[in-house]
Amino acid sequence: MSAPESMPDRKTELLDVLTQRREEAETQYRRALEEQQSGAAAGDNEGVHGWKASPEGGADVALLEILDRTVSQIDAAIHRLHAGYYGLCSACAEPIPLARLRALPFATLCVPCQSERE
Ligand SMILES: [Zn+2]
Repeated sequence: MSAPESMPDRKTELLDVLTQRREEAETQYRRALEEQQSGAAAGDNEGVHGWKASPEGGADVALLEILDRTVSQIDAAIHRLHAGYYGLCSACAEPIPLARLRALPFATLCVPCQSERE
């Protein structure tokens, strides 16, 4: 049985990458929310990820918005993956290499197409 369009191994790997990203984003979201609610972010403003804390000392609401958006983007990517068109270049329709998607899960262009636009 050959499957020209859907490669199960690739799909499984991509699902792994996306699921892991989703868990990371959710963990960060929960942590940021807790810090914001407890105000415990105050002494820890340097931020491991370089996020800026608000002048009031609480976690930046923008961070929560970013993480919320990230989770939604990952959910959308997982939907696209199940539908079979996640990870395809939007310009030439070639599969984007796994290594690139691991580094940039929301990449929509393959490397050659991306460099053409730069
Ligand atoms: Zn391309």
